[in-house]
Amino acid sequence: MYSVIIIGSGCAGLTAAIYAARANLKPLVLDGHEPGGQLSLTTHVENFPGFPDGIMGPELIENMRKQAQKFGAEFKAGAVTEVDVSKRPFKIIAGKNTYETEALIIAAGASARLLGLKGERELIGHGVSTCATCDGYFFRGKPIAVVGGGDSAMEEANFLSRYASEVYLVHRRNEFRASKIMIDRAKANPKVEFVTPFAVEEIVAPEGHVEGMRLRNQQTKETREIALHGVFVAIGHDPNSIVFKGKLEMDSNGYLLAKHGSLTSIPGVFVAGDVQDHRYRQAVTAAGSGCMAAIDAEKFLEEHKH
Ligand code: NAP
Repeated sequence: MYSVIIIGSGCAGLTAAIYAARANLKPLVLDGHEPGGQLSLTTHVENFPGFPDGIMGPELIENMRKQAQKFGAEFKAGAVTEVDVSKRPFKIIAGKNTYETEALIIAAGASARLLGLKGERELIGHGVSTCATCDGYFFRGKPIAVVGGGDSAMEEANFLSRYASEVYLVHRRNEFRASKIMIDRAKANPKVEFVTPFAVEEIVAPEGHVEGMRLRNQQTKETREIALHGVFVAIGHDPNSIVFKGKLEMDSNGYLLAKHGSLTSIPGVFVAGDVQDHRYRQAVTAAGSGCMAAIDAEKFLEEHKH
């Protein structure tokens, strides 16, 4: 029986673990299917306060993990397959193991969708990115592409035009999901060139970093190659909330709904990080919300002492 279980070991989960451990709650952190979360998939992080020269994403995550362990947080590998939050203690099932806890912090994150191309995942941090805010700065004066046709793609194309010499907006259809105002803004941007209806067939990276893309026109089937230094995949995120479907309130895209900080519809269950945030999605905001969830869990446990 645990006082607090934290699902997820990204920035939000690890910050929650540091706070809960320092409050002497001996939290258990369940690593999930992507230990370390999205930061572990990136390279240089320059916008996390406190590191004037930047820090590598995996190193930042490893530091947070050590910090949590130092104060007594316990870690176990394994993704959560089922939960019972209908009564306390809550039951968390991860494969063959069942855990019980008085309070639960869900920091399971969101996974950026990828195109599913060969080598794409390995190229994250080597020219492929899923976060314009994080990585745009690395492409100053270089041509890049944004893939997608939703609001995220339009927003990222505009944002990245501040840095890049040219932004190719590559989308598989001539119609867009994005709102008209966002499309108009991107179209009015002299640095953004719309490339439609083209699907990405290959990210060209013979030396292990992005050098270009091979595209195929979805109507004429002609191919086109573009030389580039970066590919920003902006085709949406999926919150890792599936095991909570029907058990906790979520929006139509599956993001868990938090109220008054980290509280959910069930007393004793708290949420933090990208699983409840489709707006900011930053390491520092995830860390901040992890801290809030741990403080809320501590207060809850104090109020519900046996
Ligand atoms: P989205 O609206 O779901 O759009 C995803 C885009 O990616 C679609 O154009 C889709 O193409 C494309 N796509 C999906 N899978 C693909 C694949 N395998 N290969 C190639 N293309 C693929 O996602 P989003 O843009 O991230 O937006 C998510 C939500 O956040 C939306 O509600 C959006 O309005 C909101 N948002 C709002 C703002 C803002 O208002 N400032 C900014 C960002 C996001 P198809 O259309 O062909 O399916």
